[in-house]
Amino acid sequence: MAEQSRQDIDAIVVGAGFAGLYMLHKLRGLGLNARVIEAGDGVGGTWFWNRYPGARVDIQSMEYSFSFDPELENEWRWSERYAPQEELLRYANHVADRFDLRRDIQLETRVTAAVWDEQAQRWSVTTDLGDEFSARWVVMATGCLSTPKAIDIAGIEDFAGPIYRTFEWPREGVDFTGQRVGVVGTGSSAIQSIPVIAEQAAQLTVFQRTPNYCAPAWNAPITPEQYSDWDANRDAYRATARGQMVAALFDPTERTAAEFSPAEQEAEFARRWQIGGLPMMSLFADVLTEPDANRVAADLMARKIHSLVDDPATAEKLVPKTYPIATKRLCVDTGYYATFNRPNVDLVDLRATPIERITAEGVRTTAREIPLDALVLATGFDAMTGTLTRIDIRGRGGLALKDKWADGPHTFLGLTIAGFPNLFTITGPGSPSVLTNMMMSIEQHVEWIADCIAWLGERQLATIEASGEAEAEWVAHVAEVAEPTLFPQADSWYMGANVPGKPRVFLPYVGGFPAYVEACNDVVANGYRGFATG
Ligand code: FAD
Ligand code: NAP
Repeated sequence: MAEQSRQDIDAIVVGAGFAGLYMLHKLRGLGLNARVIEAGDGVGGTWFWNRYPGARVDIQSMEYSFSFDPELENEWRWSERYAPQEELLRYANHVADRFDLRRDIQLETRVTAAVWDEQAQRWSVTTDLGDEFSARWVVMATGCLSTPKAIDIAGIEDFAGPIYRTFEWPREGVDFTGQRVGVVGTGSSAIQSIPVIAEQAAQLTVFQRTPNYCAPAWNAPITPEQYSDWDANRDAYRATARGQMVAALFDPTERTAAEFSPAEQEAEFARRWQIGGLPMMSLFADVLTEPDANRVAADLMARKIHSLVDDPATAEKLVPKTYPIATKRLCVDTGYYATFNRPNVDLVDLRATPIERITAEGVRTTAREIPLDALVLATGFDAMTGTLTRIDIRGRGGLALKDKWADGPHTFLGLTIAGFPNLFTITGPGSPSVLTNMMMSIEQHVEWIADCIAWLGERQLATIEASGEAEAEWVAHVAEVAEPTLFPQADSWYMGANVPGKPRVFLPYVGGFPAYVEACNDVVANGYRGFATG
């Protein structure tokens, strides 16, 4: 290894997804010397890694884009209602070029440790290449869904054919023509890729442990009229979106299920089905709080699934039964249910016949052996905390973040952590993040952090740290707002339930984007209440 020397720098940003890119731009705007460290060999984060067939956004592209620069908005045109991964990756690269960001981005480098140096009042950041930085500020722009869950299927190493993970899809693509393919998982990644793989493969077997609810994308090119309307009303649309719980144009209703007659409930469901996408889940105001309302929505969806899938037994397997609707992220699909009408597609219900092990030839369930040429794993992520706890982050007194978070994440606003001065997390646990249009949440966090650093600079203050009391209050509040909802009833990744041994805690803030922004702004308006500065 080449000898590396310690470099002094104002700020280290970890990750070159949308969060890291915008953070670098803002830090530069403050006149700071900042460096982004990124593990991948390109920018784009989620859209750099997840190249599986069918990958695309589930928030409409025009909304899922930066709003901080009108020129950027004017010059970029999305092709489709839900942009595909290649286009999102192009957009990330365009942002990097347009703002001349690349000269401060170090690729193919993984940050392995960040240790607070009490003496110097700085972070000592090290990488897998042996770099060592001394940084005043560290911003973890490491993503909520950036570390795949460890493979927990017996015998996986015995499989003789290729194994593809949706998160690390080969760049050159995969040709499944003539092959017998198995897909394990039925979350959003699987649901987007299954219809595309089914068109190519000779035979596709879907291994489903828990079915998901899917809403149709009705994806289509964006028409010139739609763009004219967006351009003319963009600011108003963006403002309306920011006023919504999910920071997106979701057509929420204030009517509870009981306020609709059964015929109206059906009509409303049919209307939303025709619109498609995530707004399906805003069917009734109380869908996420009232079990009866949730049941009505679930029954409507079950009937829809039966109407789309020819074989009643297969349809029944595709109907979720173990959790309330919308307590796992709704999937936005293109032809998912209809895929099961194809003669070359088979659905294996792993609850009825679990996988015993993977063998050299295929998958052996308790019922039979299914021979396969290739296996696709769409088995999800160690979400929201997994990427952070894999870095050896040590705060005051050498306290390791993974120890501090042993019983679940403790943060103030999902932005800062008591005992870890001058360290920020973008869309960290305890912020609305994954329950919102992430682009809006990323912008809000990046701007909050930049304003905070500027505020400190104006006062010649070198450190800021959340108090233990403010953090404890926020953690309690995050739990308190989740508790009356139906979310905790699902074994979801929101609850950490998909990763064996992970504490069962509702990770994002469910109080909604507007309430959250108000809480962040209130802290600032009160001189960074809840923080100690030095
Ligand atoms: P990421 O894009 O995850 O980027 C984080 C980067 O940090 C990665 O490139 C990673 O390599 C790097 N990194 C992590 N640890 C280290 C380390 N130790 N050292 C160096 N680099 C490191 N959100 C939506 O709102 N709408 C959607 O439609 C949507 N679709 C999604 C589809 C998929 C397949 C996935 C996985 C997520 C999706 N999300 C969606 C969530 C998505 O993650 C966010 O929208 C957004 O892209 C996150 O950007 P980010 O910069 O915060 O994180
Ligand atoms: P996921 O939703 O966690 O789905 C993982 C799937 O794998 C689940 O069906 C899970 O079953 C199954 N699984 C995991 N381990 C298994 C095992 N050992 N044996 C059998 N099955 C197993 O992961 P994801 O699909 O990657 O999506 C994660 C999140 O990323 C989404 O919720 C969404 O926020 C985002 N995303 C968005 C889009 C989009 O539409 N734009 C696309 C992809 C991802 P269980 O449920 O039984 O555990």
